Parts: sequence; structure tokens; C-alpha cells
Amino acid sequence: MSELSFADLGLDPAVLEAVVAVGYEKPSPIQAQSIPLLLNGDNLLGTAQTGTGKTAAFALPLLSRIDHKAKEAQILVLTPTRELAIQVAEAFSTYASKIRGFQVLPIYGGQDFYPQLKALKRGAQVIVGTPGRTLDHLRRGTLKLDTLKSLVLDEADEMLRMGFIDDVEAILAATPANCQRALFSATMPGPIRKVAQTYLSNAVEVKIENQTKTVARTTQYVLPIYAERKLDALTRILEVEPFDATIIFVRTKAETTLLAEKLSARGHSVAPLNGDLNQRQREQTVEDLKRGKKDIVVATDVAARGLDVPRITHVINYDVPYDTEAYIHRIGRTGRAGREGKAILLVTPRERSWLRTLERATNSPMESYQLPSPVDLQKMREEQFEAQLMTFAEDGKQPKAVELLNGIAERNNVDIAVLAGALACWMETAQPGALPLEQPAALPIPSPERRGRDNNDGRRPNRPGGHKPGFKKGPGKGGPRPGGRGKPPAGGKRPPRQTDAKR
Ligand code: ADP
Ligand code: MG
Repeated sequence: MSELSFADLGLDPAVLEAVVAVGYEKPSPIQAQSIPLLLNGDNLLGTAQTGTGKTAAFALPLLSRIDHKAKEAQILVLTPTRELAIQVAEAFSTYASKIRGFQVLPIYGGQDFYPQLKALKRGAQVIVGTPGRTLDHLRRGTLKLDTLKSLVLDEADEMLRMGFIDDVEAILAATPANCQRALFSATMPGPIRKVAQTYLSNAVEVKIENQTKTVARTTQYVLPIYAERKLDALTRILEVEPFDATIIFVRTKAETTLLAEKLSARGHSVAPLNGDLNQRQREQTVEDLKRGKKDIVVATDVAARGLDVPRITHVINYDVPYDTEAYIHRIGRTGRAGREGKAILLVTPRERSWLRTLERATNSPMESYQLPSPVDLQKMREEQFEAQLMTFAEDGKQPKAVELLNGIAERNNVDIAVLAGALACWMETAQPGALPLEQPAALPIPSPERRGRDNNDGRRPNRPGGHKPGFKKGPGKGGPRPGGRGKPPAGGKRPPRQTDAKR
């Protein structure tokens, strides 16, 4: 990862303030390289894997260039699905939260024209649309692009895959000639490269390559999981894994604190480790981990750099890393000094393509992680409860406690076994979850199917009721993306300039 901070990039102060408020610690590689170029007004062709922060890579610099006072459309982003349109629009409103009077408008199929028309009339500086619906508005004259400063094709390979390439070209042709253009994609297949050659003249190319390294003594596991189930999965992993010390990686500073609090509430001895802590606090946390005063640390990549604690037996990648380099660094926190280590990666459906990338980068396969079945988990909890209970049978206070209980049993005419049950229930009240009474539910595991086409541009029947905007992620991206980077540009046309984007 780069050493740059967001403050070094020359973003508009209002935008920078919003980014700091969100809690991003530092720019991801694609962001570090794209932001200065887009701020400079360059056209850009950006390739980086899913989940590497491409949205902010264009949203932050382009927002920094808009005229806050002008209310007309200045930025247009095209996305393949309405879920993505909503998601990107929400990202824009987050990053523009400190810009007064800012408006962003998602437009997509499956939603009535009328509210969109009204909103378009009111004016929005940023429009995020699916190609089909955007083209419809253009043709009806309800959307005008003559004031456009920048245009972004987001997830271009996906738009190609879904058959939107002609619509995209038609929209491109309707944008002003001096409009800045950027194309972001996880892969760069031939047809996309052709579009880029035609419409993104002199585009600078930024490509985040993933390196290959070998990792010796750490066994890597992967657990596909729905985003909203990650915490449940994590607590089960921590429950069944026989770890000495564990480091959990997340993306933001805020998340380190939040997750540490949640785990602490579940009885773990845990501390956050992030860049907001001062040097002394960070050293203290590492010291606590070394000495066994803490068993779990929830860290960001930056804060855990170089961390050397031989006790760490497990690395849990709660959030996927930004690049393979970060991943290799993360899992290198375990398996130290010749010991065995275990690394577990949680991937949501839309991040699934990371699997192949990381396998390639580390030159070793990932095994699929098996969460315990509810029956096994229940059995384990009962055994643990029993074992713990039996240790108290030898407690020095035990005989006196029995005397007390015998008295109570006699006076109330109940069996002493009933009192044992009552005591256990009391304990459960004081420490919820201490008593294993109910078999836990199974966690739903995403199926390996590709994303369906039911969420496309409204050309097929949509769910009734429309989509309520909210910070909800769209359905998963499904299986791995089609491989291959596309052929090199055909002769005759000028290839895009290439920056030294190798990392
Ligand atoms: P992509 O478009 O490359 O698939 P996204 O733009 O959707 O990736 O970003 C993936 C996630 O990473 C989002 O939840 C976003 O909020 C988060 N994110 C983006 N940039 C950063 C950053 N610099 N630090 C921490 N989290 C980030
Ligand atoms: Mg994206």
C-alpha cells in the first residue's frame, strides 16, 4: 500500500473533510494513483479488482472539481445495475456531505419516470444512471448533457457483459467533446478497450497489478458469507478455533473500535489497533497481546504493519484487503518463528473474485472453511459448560454453598436439583449465552451462482414496489469474472498512455 494520505492528494477541503469523517485511513492503490490524474483533468482508464475502492477513486476528485453553486448536471456516472446506481449515488452523497446544497440523483429502470422527471427538473450536480434509462431521458430531452464536466463508465466490463455497450456508446456520443472521461473496470476485455480508444482519447492508464509471492507456514481458508452475517460467522469462528492470539483485519479505524466493542460484549479479551491511537497506546496494545493480557486485536492494515507477535496463531480477514500485497502482509502476522498459522478470509458474494487472485498471488490454494454445524456447535457448548461447571465442583466454597442450598430446599420443599437449575438460569441472566439451552441456527451460506439478470436495467419485470434508496448493497456479484485482460490494442489506433502503475 502507498504511504500517501488523503490530505496529500489535493482534494477540495470539503471533500477531504467528508473522507476523514467516514474514517478511511488512507487511499487504496487505485485511489492513490487515479485521484491526482482526475484532479488534473486527465481522461483515465482504470483497472483494479472488485472491492478496491474504485468509486471513491473517481468520486473524490470529480467532486473536487464541480462548481458548488451551479445546480445543473456536471457529473454523469453510468453503472450496469440499479443497485449499483443507488450504491454509487449514496457514496457520492457521503463524500459530498460537507458541500452545501449538493444534489445527486440516481436514475434507473423499474422506477416511475415521473419522480425522476421532477427530480431532474429540480436539478442535480451528479447523475448516476443505468445506460438504458439514461438514454431514454436523453432521447426525451428530459436530461441534458451540455453542461457535463465529467463522465464515468463504472464497472465497464459488467456493462459489456449485460449487453449495454451500444447504449453506452450512444450516451458517450452525446456528451460534450471537452468533457473529461473515465472508465473503471475490474477487467479490460477487448470491446471495452475499443470503446476507450474511440471515446477516451489520450486516456492515462492506471492498472493495479497483483503480485505473486509465496507464504510458507500459513494455511489459508476462505469462508463465503453474506455481508450482514459476517459478525455471526466471526463469533462462531472465534468460538471453535483453538487460538492462542488472533488478529482481525478490517478496513477502517472506526470499524476496529466498533468490532472490538462487539467482541468484548461477547466476552472476548480484545483491543482495537488503529492509526488514531498514539504511539504509546499502540505499543501498549501490542505489549498486552504479547503477554496474553489481550487475546484478540482488531486492526487496520496500517496500524498492524510489521507487527511481530509469535503468539498469533490466527489471522482473520474480516474485510477483504485492497491488494494482494496487503493480504500477504496480513497473513504474514501469523506462522512466525517456524510455527503453524491459520488465515481465514471472509468474502461476500460480490468480492468472490478475490479468491482466485489471492490464490495466484500466494501461489497456494485456499481451502474452504467449514463452520461447525448447529448440532456440533451445541454439543461443543454443552461439553464446555460441563467442563467449566465441574471445575467449580472442587471449589473451596462449594461445601458451604451446598449447605445454604440444602436449607433453601428444605424450607421450600423442592428438590436440590431444581435449585441447581434455578442457579443456572440466574447465571444466564447475569451473563447471557452462558447456558447452552437452545441449538444455534445455521448460518446461510451464499451459493456460488452468478448474479442473476433480474436486477438489470428494467428491461425485464422488476420487483413490485420499486427500490427504496438506503445504504443497502445490491445482490452479490456472483461467480468469478471472466478472466483475461483482453488483447493488446489493435494496430492503427493510438494506445492509451501507460503510467508506471506496477506495484
Ligand atoms: P470497487 O468499486 O472497486 O468494487 P468500492 O468503491 O465499492 O469498490 O469500495 C469497496 C468498499 O471499500 C466500500 O465499502 C468503500 O466504502 C470502502 N472503501 C473505499 N475506499 C476506502 C479507503 N480508502 N479506506 C477504507 N475503505 C474504503
Ligand atoms: Mg465499483
